[in-house]
Amino acid sequence: MPEFNTYAGNLRLIGGRLCLDFINSVGGRRVDPSSNKKAVEDAIIRADKLREYADLLAWSMHAGLVTEAEAARLLRESKQREEETTSVFARALALREAIWRICRAVVNQMPPHQSELDLLNQELAIAHGRVRLAAGEKNFVWEWTDTKNALDRMLWLVADSAAEYLTTGDLKRLRECGGDDCGWLFEDTSRNRSRQWCDMQDCGNLAKVRRFRSRLRA
Ligand SMILES: [Zn+2]
Repeated sequence: MPEFNTYAGNLRLIGGRLCLDFINSVGGRRVDPSSNKKAVEDAIIRADKLREYADLLAWSMHAGLVTEAEAARLLRESKQREEETTSVFARALALREAIWRICRAVVNQMPPHQSELDLLNQELAIAHGRVRLAAGEKNFVWEWTDTKNALDRMLWLVADSAAEYLTTGDLKRLRECGGDDCGWLFEDTSRNRSRQWCDMQDCGNLAKVRRFRSRLRA
């Protein structure tokens, strides 16, 4: 396998939706609520697991959006098409942050910013332009076109997942992890809607240890 960053390709996928897992490719999103926009952006850059296009490919392979052979092919393509790769990668980060901001608005029961919806709609327009109807066995089926060399193919799936989630998902179940500096988002599918943590082993455990320590101090 070519030089794929192992971090992006090993992130926990706990969101319950592709679009939420994509948001969670930034570790430690939560920042002091009093910080300004610049401080928030800087913190995100520091915690970002996607540093270049190869990371996006590693993540896409990990999330099952492309096979290993497809990822290897796209990596080779990306080296031939540097300018386009830079632009696809910038679009990926912009799409991710737009979905994150929209979902955070949902969690906080606030209306989303129009500019973020516009950005998601732009990506949806690109994705929908890649869909075509084809003859299937019984019924006709939707297919993606020209996937082989499309450097941005994973973005079509992410944008599509976000649109599907936002239009048909039970948004009351969207949660932000309660971990101190986590901020990952997930869909709470627990029966009594009580899931608090991205991962009980991780943020859940840390919180337990912290409660235990403060009890000891008291
Ligand atoms: Zn967490």
